[in-house]
Amino acid sequence: AVVFVTGGNGFVGAATVLELIKRDYTVKATMRSQAKAEAFNKQYPAQSSSIEWVIIPDLTNEDAMTAAMTNVDYLIHMASPFHFTFTDNVNEVLRPAKDMTLVALKAAAKHPRIKRVVITSSFVAIWDLMQDNGLWPGKTYTSDDWNPATWDQAASSTNPLFVYSASKSIAEKAAYDFVEHEKPDFALTTFCPPIIYGPPLQPEVTTSNLNTSTYVVWELLSGQAKEIPDTTLPIFIDVRDLAYLQVSALTNEKAKNQRYFVVSDHWYMEQLVDIVREEFPDQAFRLPPTVRTKAPSHFDFDVTKAERDFDIKWIPLRQSIVDTMKVLYEKEREE
Ligand code: NDP
Repeated sequence: AVVFVTGGNGFVGAATVLELIKRDYTVKATMRSQAKAEAFNKQYPAQSSSIEWVIIPDLTNEDAMTAAMTNVDYLIHMASPFHFTFTDNVNEVLRPAKDMTLVALKAAAKHPRIKRVVITSSFVAIWDLMQDNGLWPGKTYTSDDWNPATWDQAASSTNPLFVYSASKSIAEKAAYDFVEHEKPDFALTTFCPPIIYGPPLQPEVTTSNLNTSTYVVWELLSGQAKEIPDTTLPIFIDVRDLAYLQVSALTNEKAKNQRYFVVSDHWYMEQLVDIVREEFPDQAFRLPPTVRTKAPSHFDFDVTKAERDFDIKWIPLRQSIVDTMKVLYEKEREE
């Protein structure tokens, strides 16, 4: 079967494309430029024969997206702006996130052969970051919770995390509204992962162009951080688990029109430092000192719905961090 993919060269995207090919799918993937497609092929020559690239510089071009989705069976939509360096909330983040999602769905709806659409949403589409700075002790989040931020609040916010978070809930909500009103032939499955760790396998990745979530780990564990910062989002998932779930969802009957909150475990900045100190003793010299403070109280998570509908055994924090750091320290040596 053929899976159409957006965002395939990103951190989550590359892991998902590699998982698709491992499980014998053929991939048709959009890239914003030919150079990006070539970079992927160069990094993964063995997999490149299973990927057909379509160059679409603007993913909100509905005609181009519709034409590209001919003869495909599934869609996995992952492309969305995920960085905190923007100046124009609406045009750089909110509008692209929402419009790219809607255009992908509109294009898919024109092809009755497409039976399932999977969208990478985020825990930030669940999270209410205005409650106790996001920590909300006593709250247990589930896949029924929605970030209540509105478009207008996000458009005028000066907090980039608030804006990004709203872009994800607004885009995901728009997807469910589309399905409800347009009743397309496909069923929708969305995933809401919190911060994602695990090996960064995207093409041309270096320690100076890391995706946002891998940079959190690198900044802390490469000696750039002189002290351990607060943990503002204390739950994680490994990118390989997310890739496995996204690919499994394509053919999972239980996942039809379902939203999944997916989490491996809690994590704290101090734990990451301890793991590296224990597992990579030669790197200990550049770690910030671990000052033992009481972990802050914070929300809990309930992911029993994902555990009920998927055969998933979460990759634990230690393995996720060790595998991430192996790749990053190796990259640094090569640079
Ligand atoms: P990356 O920055 O590594 O990847 C982002 C991908 O989206 C790239 O392929 C990028 O393409 C594409 N993209 C971004 N903006 C646009 C745009 N305006 N038009 C076309 N393509 C665009 O980030 P991640 O892999 O981490 O993120 C992938 C998805 O996972 C996103 O939807 C993100 O919200 C979600 N997510 C990530 C989490 C994390 O911790 N990493 C946590 C929860 C959700 P290009 O290379 O051309 O820029």
